[in-house]
Amino acid sequence: MQYHAANTDSLMFITPRPDLVFERGEGSWLYDHNGKAYLDFIQGWAVNTLGHCPPEIAAALAAQAGKLINPSPAFYNGPMIELAGLLIANSVFDRVFFANTGAEANEGAIKLARKWGRLHKDGAYEIITFNHSFHGRTLATMSASGKPGWDTIYAPQVAGFPKASYNDIAAVDALIGAKTVAVMLEPVQGEGGVIPADPAFMQALRELTTKRGILLIVDEVQSGMGRTGKLFAYEHAGITPDIMTLAKGIGGGVPLAALLAREEICCFEPGDQGGTYNGNPLMTAVGIAVLKRLLAPGFLAEVEARGQYLSKRLLELSARHGLKGERGSGLLRALILADERGPEIVRRALEGGPKGLLLNSPRPNLLRFMPALNVSEGEIDLMIGMLDGLLSSQP
Ligand SMILES: *Cc1c(COP(=O)(O)O)cnc(C)c1O
Repeated sequence: MQYHAANTDSLMFITPRPDLVFERGEGSWLYDHNGKAYLDFIQGWAVNTLGHCPPEIAAALAAQAGKLINPSPAFYNGPMIELAGLLIANSVFDRVFFANTGAEANEGAIKLARKWGRLHKDGAYEIITFNHSFHGRTLATMSASGKPGWDTIYAPQVAGFPKASYNDIAAVDALIGAKTVAVMLEPVQGEGGVIPADPAFMQALRELTTKRGILLIVDEVQSGMGRTGKLFAYEHAGITPDIMTLAKGIGGGVPLAALLAREEICCFEPGDQGGTYNGNPLMTAVGIAVLKRLLAPGFLAEVEARGQYLSKRLLELSARHGLKGERGSGLLRALILADERGPEIVRRALEGGPKGLLLNSPRPNLLRFMPALNVSEGEIDLMIGMLDGLLSSQP
């Protein structure tokens, strides 16, 4: 570990990281500088849709890099147009703006809703969001997030984000006033602990927002792009939101994000919105490769089946170890522990051997699973076996 331990001092400290360096990835496996293999159920934080270094992404990057990397955001390029067309053809939305990160796409959604409010709702600007929600790390998206403590770290906050309780339609109704322009939510709260919205709640939200003449924004940065077994999680409720944001899975590992909206909502004028890398062909070419794979016949049905399989295996594990069950949607799931051992299990899973296991604990009593969407049953079995051992043994 010596050779790089000193070098990490040149990185700004933001979080404790394990003392190892990852050098290579393939499918569900990552390899560190000692050659140790890790079964990866984090996958770049629900990002690597097709696993590590899938051939179609490597090929798309190489082909596009040899052709055109950056014509400038002031010009059209082929991949940008093709990917927007594919997203429109496979969703309820009419237009797309590309960005680089989820936070940036959400900033765009907030700006679009506020602009729409200025034009059509007498200057209404408030966006109702939810306790324990996560929308990103810019100042506005931190203010929109319902993460405890985030209201004070970088105070003052960006104003205009009243918080409601999740899955509680009366709480939303009570917050709607003359200044309200939209409601924004994650169809599955990811960072908050993998909590799916009830389809009935999503339907009631759509009804309520329509009745009150305000917008419904879905943040599908984590839940979108096949993660829940449908291309987009709003489909489970059969509703038509007004605005959607995507990131994480759409790039399969590269920085790509998107803001989608229905035609009536699109009201940006020149100068309102932009970004140097928006729609750059290197990233959008990857987005096309990812989306085409998700749209291949049978792919999403496999995600659904694998999600059910993972759920079943987690329930067995829960019963065997006296845990509190599991929850989630598709291949975004959490095992609910009976105590606060999450971080300790994550550490032992990483350090154990001969092979390590990469898991995440968004709350001390939860373990979160966000494998590649093409994870195999054999890899799920392997993970369950490793976790079984970790749950049986004490630190
Ligand atoms: C990760 C995440 C974001 C932020 O995305 P970044 O690419 O990290 O900016 C926003 N919303 C949700 C639901 C997320 O899971």
